[in-house]
Amino acid sequence: MRTEPDWRNWRLGLARNLFVPHKFDYARGKRPKVSCIFCEVVAGKDTVERLEVHRTDRFLISLNLYPYNPGHLILFPVNHCTHPRELKDSDVQELHHLQLKAMQVLDSLYQPRGFNVGYNLGQASGASIEHLHIHIVPRYERELGFMDIIGGAKIMVEDPVRSRDRIRNGFNSSR
Ligand SMILES: [Zn+2]
Repeated sequence: MRTEPDWRNWRLGLARNLFVPHKFDYARGKRPKVSCIFCEVVAGKDTVERLEVHRTDRFLISLNLYPYNPGHLILFPVNHCTHPRELKDSDVQELHHLQLKAMQVLDSLYQPRGFNVGYNLGQASGASIEHLHIHIVPRYERELGFMDIIGGAKIMVEDPVRSRDRIRNGFNSSR
């Protein structure tokens, strides 16, 4: 006799593993009404979700507010600026080290198969936040698509709060 798949447990499994969008209204286009969302993050305001994973005197690393992939980080100067030309040479050096550090932490926690790292500058680039920031996007061999959800295949999406805690620990433990 052919056994039916256990749909109830399958759905429960999904509920446990899938990032739940209602926790993050901004993911549906409801952005907090603030003048600069990254300056609010730096100030630790309650108007924005707190997804910070690491901070130095000059830079802050946060889970992306609009995650493209699990572990998608953004790295930005704590002082508001809009173009890399505004950074001093010493800032650029620290920025470089922080990028390498972030990739090292992600490598150890998520074992991605690659990264996309870079700026989106200017309106035509798709940039939606003016405050200068670098995206660090881990890329996986199998990334979540419609068929992965429908087919119940490997689910890789993770609640950003859980990602934040894991990555924060990763930074702390690799000092
Ligand atoms: Zn700002």
